[in-house]
Amino acid sequence: MDPTAALSEAAPEVLWLDSPDRPDVGDPLPGDATADLVVVGAGFTGLWTALQAKEDDPSLDVVVIDAGAVGEQASGRNGGFVSSSLTHGLENGIAHFPRHIDRILAAGRENFDGIVDAVDRHGIDAHLELTGNLQVADRPWQLEHVVAAGERLRVHGEKVDQLDGEELRAQVDSPTYLGGYWVRSGEAMVDPARLGWGLADTCRRLGVRIHEHTRMEALERHGAGMSVRTGCGVLRCGAVVLGTNAFPSPVGAVNRRIVPVFDYVLATEPLSAGQLASIGWRNRQGVSDSANQFHYYRITADDRILWGGYDAVFFTGGRITPDRYQHAATHEKLARHFFGTFPQLDGLRFTHRWGGVIDTSTRFSVGFGTAFEGRVAYAVGYTGLGAGATRFGARVCLDLLYRPDSELLGLDLVRKRPLPFPPEPVRSAGIQMTRRAIARADANAGHRGPWLRLLDALGLGFDS
Ligand SMILES: Cc1cc2nc3c(=O)[nH]c(=O)nc-3n(C[C@H](O)[C@H](O)[C@H](O)COP(=O)(O)OP(=O)(O)OC[C@H]3O[C@@H](n4cnc5c(N)ncnc54)[C@H](O)[C@@H]3O)c2cc1C
Repeated sequence: MDPTAALSEAAPEVLWLDSPDRPDVGDPLPGDATADLVVVGAGFTGLWTALQAKEDDPSLDVVVIDAGAVGEQASGRNGGFVSSSLTHGLENGIAHFPRHIDRILAAGRENFDGIVDAVDRHGIDAHLELTGNLQVADRPWQLEHVVAAGERLRVHGEKVDQLDGEELRAQVDSPTYLGGYWVRSGEAMVDPARLGWGLADTCRRLGVRIHEHTRMEALERHGAGMSVRTGCGVLRCGAVVLGTNAFPSPVGAVNRRIVPVFDYVLATEPLSAGQLASIGWRNRQGVSDSANQFHYYRITADDRILWGGYDAVFFTGGRITPDRYQHAATHEKLARHFFGTFPQLDGLRFTHRWGGVIDTSTRFSVGFGTAFEGRVAYAVGYTGLGAGATRFGARVCLDLLYRPDSELLGLDLVRKRPLPFPPEPVRSAGIQMTRRAIARADANAGHRGPWLRLLDALGLGFDS
């Protein structure tokens, strides 16, 4: 079958959100109100902020608002790979924060364990599976780098099995696999929407008020505190946390440091027993391949394959508009690549296709800051690896507001801010040039041309 024909009946919907368990949208803010802490954004950053704030101090009055619904943006659209990495991978962490890498890794492990513990303790049915990840090389030029990356993880304390082509194909059977590794620690799979909904339920049980369809329109000082102006009323409060991803922010420093990148995903129908047998995948790991433009894929609780990534699309001008959540050319490319990797699944059909917005920063990892004399804290820039790091981002925001002596605030990851992107029109032109250079490098056995080498030397880049 023509790979793209497998897409003909795919609904333009997010698999995770297309569920009978999806909760009804909650009420908007009913009018003016007060709180100790207002959290803007009911994605993972906002929900972990509210949850940890209540766990720190049950008497704190916490309100969460979201322009849409709980977990409806990146947090409910992602691949569900929860990683202990706070830095978009170890290599990127070493490149940017060599001085503190061991402390950052320790904080990442503690964060990962905290997620697993919270899911268990609060009875959140997020289909969490401690499967680990497979990193696969499917081109000869990737092999050396993949082996070195696996070894680096092992040296830094992860449980890693290096696998030759045959051993890898015994895990997941693709004729394209040449070798790779299985990192067995610090990587889990979740259903991200269920995680978001479960976090929201837990927050509500602890007394947090969550108002959906309530957009922050402005932030202003109000006495010693802040006021958050929304379309539904004004919230007066002592402090604010912004967990607003790549959406336009009232804090200029955020807009300068973040660009919205669209990432696209497909999901198949559930595999039959015969189809499952043809690929193995009994250990249900997450899988990523190893070009600069990479795919990530996994198997869901009901045995579908989720397949995403590759193109990281930046639309010149950087606006987030609803029509951009679908991208036929990328979905078709993803379908072709899927059957290239798993030719034995010819005839399998895709049921869902969607996209979501990633907050890309120049260093590919979350950055922090405060505004309004320390009354507002923010965490943005996770660059496609925020499903786990958002809990840490939330922790740091609370520490910035309430615990100035927290050790985390001394980490370079927290103290140093990502370099800003240049203003338009240079911003869009530079990003599109970088995307083209990345595609050329992948087509040319990974050789990075002069533009990418210059960016590497400056510690800058573009990723998803
Ligand atoms: C397709 C895709 C796949 C991904 N796959 C993975 C993966 O497998 N593993 C991984 O680790 N990461 C992945 N990521 C990244 C991960 O999803 C994000 O890093 C993470 O969810 C960010 O959470 P957040 O709460 O900061 O942002 P979001 O979930 O986007 O939440 C931000 C919220 O803020 C709200 N908001 C914005 N502006 C306002 C305003 N003015 N007023 C009120 N509310 C506002 C939005 O409505 C939104 O709900 C992926 C992302 C995408 C898009």
